[in-house]
Amino acid sequence: MGNNKVDTIKDYVNNNQTGNKDASAESFPDYEYAVTGICIGCGKCLYVCPADCIVHDGVPYYIDASKCRSCGNCREVCPVGAVSML
Ligand code: SF4
Ligand code: SF4
Repeated sequence: MGNNKVDTIKDYVNNNQTGNKDASAESFPDYEYAVTGICIGCGKCLYVCPADCIVHDGVPYYIDASKCRSCGNCREVCPVGAVSML
């Protein structure tokens, strides 16, 4: 297929391995990020989180705030707008 959005996100992450993955143009580092109840469990946020802090043992997912770097990547890729800034 080659047009899978998850593949695109993986490419994005791989292409930024040597850069600062926290340096998202959309990030708001002063905020805490949280997954809300409309999360559909698609998993896209998992590929872009540099801190591996999104817990996915059930839906909705949730963010381990003690490890989150507030980069905003998860919010940027979420297809349903489930990640909010607190
Ligand atoms: S904002 Fe936090 S949970 Fe979201 S991708 Fe960045 S580090 Fe991970
Ligand atoms: S990208 Fe959004 S909908 Fe998909 S698992 Fe993450 S928070 Fe849930």
